[in-house]
Amino acid sequence: MNLFTTIALLAFVAGCAEDPGNGAGTESASLILTNARVYTLAWDEPAPNGSVKPNAPHDESGWRPDAEAIAIQGGEILFVGSNQDAMEFRGESSRVIDLAGATVIPGLVDSHTHVFGLGALLDQVNLIGAATEEEAVTLIVERAKSVPKGEWIVGRGWDEGAWANAYPDKALLTAAVPDHPVFMDSLHSFGGWSNQAALDAAGITAETEVPVGGEMRLGSDGQPSGLFLNQGVEMLRDAVPEPSRETLTKQLLLGLHQMAADGYTAVHDAGLDTRAMSILEELEATDKLPIRVYAMLSLRDEDLIREWIEKGPDSDTDSMLVTRTVKAYYDGALGSRGARLLYDYADRPGHRGISGDGYGFNQALNAQAMKAGFQIAIHAIGDAGNREAIDILETVFEEDPSTATHRHRIEHAQVISPEDIPRLGSLGIIASMEPPHAMEDKTWAEERLGPERILGAYAWRSLREAGAKLTFNSDNPGSDHDIFYGLHSAITRQDKNQQPEGGWYAEQRMTADEAVRGYTQWSAYASFREDKTGVIAPGRWADITVMNVDPFVLADQSPGELLSGRIIMTIVNGEVVYE
Ligand SMILES: [Zn+2]
Repeated sequence: MNLFTTIALLAFVAGCAEDPGNGAGTESASLILTNARVYTLAWDEPAPNGSVKPNAPHDESGWRPDAEAIAIQGGEILFVGSNQDAMEFRGESSRVIDLAGATVIPGLVDSHTHVFGLGALLDQVNLIGAATEEEAVTLIVERAKSVPKGEWIVGRGWDEGAWANAYPDKALLTAAVPDHPVFMDSLHSFGGWSNQAALDAAGITAETEVPVGGEMRLGSDGQPSGLFLNQGVEMLRDAVPEPSRETLTKQLLLGLHQMAADGYTAVHDAGLDTRAMSILEELEATDKLPIRVYAMLSLRDEDLIREWIEKGPDSDTDSMLVTRTVKAYYDGALGSRGARLLYDYADRPGHRGISGDGYGFNQALNAQAMKAGFQIAIHAIGDAGNREAIDILETVFEEDPSTATHRHRIEHAQVISPEDIPRLGSLGIIASMEPPHAMEDKTWAEERLGPERILGAYAWRSLREAGAKLTFNSDNPGSDHDIFYGLHSAITRQDKNQQPEGGWYAEQRMTADEAVRGYTQWSAYASFREDKTGVIAPGRWADITVMNVDPFVLADQSPGELLSGRIIMTIVNGEVVYE
């Protein structure tokens, strides 16, 4: 037993009076986790400035766990406390897992994902790291063994930069894989390489028109060589058929299982259409969802939204798939200068991005969904995009005050004018944000915004201090959903190379307590489940994440080490879905 668990045990004994009582084995557990560093998050959340509340397991020597064992029965937590007391719940069929000092926190929730997209990426043949053409082709040959002839195979990740002096062509790939159309996408998507079957399937000949800004290489025989560059890659990309329902189902499961392996017990999936919803519903009905899915219906799918307005939001909030949210799209992205700004882009005078109608936002349908009781999760990035999105929500609140209580969210909430920051708190709008985005955008965000507007960008602390609730997520697969990267970004404002020194606009950093809550308790709130999860306590869902590092202690002592964290176990509804 180490120092921390000793302290935890003492803390538990001291706190016994408020323990609901284990009833001396009245109920036996299906699963007991012991010898863990459990952070229950049952203490009060930190103040808006980040300072720790007095009932937190924290003192001048730093953080310590507040329990060491958990007993679970079925899908519910029975008991949290000491090893000894947890073992009172041991019955004949109890599984006991000694976690050997691993850290346990409430089940992680990524509150903005695109799991179909993640699964599609995982389903492609990963060519990253392939050193030669032969190596890449060998990987495709391997995959072709399990793919019916005639079906497309997509590989991704050969390095168009490193291979630029000797680009591959169709010859080797065609000889090795003659019966499947193959599209080899490059690492940065500026290069595409194919076999003859793909050229045939796409109908590409030497006469085919090449898009502006693109290149199609020809061989010595005057025919397409199979190598395409820049916009020319679109000729192959467009030829890959829409995946079948079977393929989409497989990819969704790949994505969900990957999230489970990476410690997530739930995702909020942002922008599902009719087909995606029907696949999710089928998997729920057949009990195949490994983790919980909180679905956000795409406002762009008008038929689907009308169907749900008719039905109303899901009332069965305990099930593995819950649908009560509509994902709306209000403006573009900052990097590509589509985000709507109040004033010109600092690096493109005369340009302010696009939003609203110009971006396909259906305001009337959005208002109808709100009045039917749905939570709205509205994508807004620029300061004008955010102001207009808040205005739109506020207008509906005025028309129908009942809509104001549905915990509407702004997805990304990336650049907000100082005047608008307090409006999120006062209107009860949640800022749904991606700590990794700040780290990935920092190289160019200030060029887009200039030195003043940047102060309201990725402004987690400013938002909290102004009373807004936050929830953290990755927006994968665009960003890496690795929780250790997410926590590290939130806690340090440094990238994976631990740059810049001291953190980028470090005044916006979160504490470990806040960062962990961003992915647990605050995400639970953002999905109306703060009574069910987000905290490890008796009666809550047995949704639990186990990791090999202690983010609370590392945040204080050696935050860079967070990046080497690993997930050890993921438990959803009392079942071990990954170990
Ligand atoms: Zn997204």
